[in-house]
Amino acid sequence: MSPDVAIIGGGIIGLTSAYLLAKEGASVAVYDRGDLGREASWAGAGILPPGNPDRAATPADKLRGIGSQRFPDFSAELRDLTGVDNGYRRCGGIEFLTAEDADVPDVWAAEGIAFTRVPLAYAQRLEPLGIVEGEPYLLPGFAQVRNPWHLRALVAACGRVGAALLPHTGVEGWEFDRNDISAARLANGDRVVAGQFLLAAGAWSEKLLHALGHRPHVHPVRGQIALLRGESCSRVLMFGKRYLVPRGDGLTLVGSTEEPEAGFEKRTTSEGIGDLVAFARRVVPVLSAAALETSWAGLRPGSPDGLPFLGRVPGWRNAFVAAGHFRAGVQLSIGTAQALSELLTDRPTCVPLEAFALDREPSATRSAFRS
Ligand SMILES: Cc1cc2nc3c(=O)[nH]c(=O)nc-3n(C[C@H](O)[C@H](O)[C@H](O)COP(=O)(O)OP(=O)(O)OC[C@H]3O[C@@H](n4cnc5c(N)ncnc54)[C@H](O)[C@@H]3O)c2cc1C
Repeated sequence: MSPDVAIIGGGIIGLTSAYLLAKEGASVAVYDRGDLGREASWAGAGILPPGNPDRAATPADKLRGIGSQRFPDFSAELRDLTGVDNGYRRCGGIEFLTAEDADVPDVWAAEGIAFTRVPLAYAQRLEPLGIVEGEPYLLPGFAQVRNPWHLRALVAACGRVGAALLPHTGVEGWEFDRNDISAARLANGDRVVAGQFLLAAGAWSEKLLHALGHRPHVHPVRGQIALLRGESCSRVLMFGKRYLVPRGDGLTLVGSTEEPEAGFEKRTTSEGIGDLVAFARRVVPVLSAAALETSWAGLRPGSPDGLPFLGRVPGWRNAFVAAGHFRAGVQLSIGTAQALSELLTDRPTCVPLEAFALDREPSATRSAFRS
């Protein structure tokens, strides 16, 4: 097999890119060293903040806006094609902002995102809140998706549009011909020859980028999640880096820790999960009666400024990267895949990719949402 595009990494970024490229008529093969879609993309909470691509202030905001705008139709498209419902729903959210978030409502307003600042007593009538910090802001545009369901839909959709999927087929390195990658070397010693190579290996991308002469510092940032069996709120509740996501079927997801020091050690800790459960019970006291159903950990692909690296790998004609989406890979997945599929097929991209270049200076701009 010698596809037009070989994609290394079958998480949400690699699979969404594969789907769009195959729909465009490219022959695509996705290589993953493990099962498809079982790493960060499976572990995430699936929060999709609102956004508006037409009024976004930064390229990253625009990618989020594309996700917010297109997720409903994209979900319906995947369901029609595969019969798999990804659980997308616009459940609304409440953000609790503190003094350090003073500029955030202005960013939302400039982007045209609907929000209302409400008194705490009003928020307490909407949701069974206990002890909370911060000022509540209602955002009806918050949505969510069930990550494992979405990944299942993506895998099936890729198959339907003819993408070749190769789980348990890890890429170990590259072979070169001047400034071309002539082949990717597989763990079993085989070679993959392709027209273009798209590296989307999440937190594991750094080694393969280093072999291309770049050290952007894509690194793992562990996040733990607790799933409680119990009714709670009806909207996503956001408290800085911690949040509650009601699943609507008697389950409430509580996230998340942020632990770069854990490296590639993907496991939960009793302290991490204990803190999350205590936090959930404090902010929504009816959860005191809820049992811990299960818990898990995932490795976010971190980058120095929290923005992904997207685009051509400098110095190489046919190497491309889409990695480092940190806390936002689900919400940025459709915009990322659209931009990469446009770049790889020589079309103008939906966002300027300079802001995501591998050799950029880290950005100091803060995102309007933290998950
Ligand atoms: C706890 C937690 C909560 C989160 N919540 C949210 C949220 O609410 N909203 C949001 O938008 N984002 C969220 N995120 C972030 C989001 O999940 C990630 O940014 C996103 O999943 C990254 O996708 P990816 O495809 O780049 O990486 P991954 O899903 O990690 O996929 C990378 C793939 O590459 C494969 N791979 C690695 N090395 C190789 C190799 N050498 N050869 C072949 N394959 C390889 C891996 O096996 C893996 O399947 C969360 C993440 C975590 C951990």
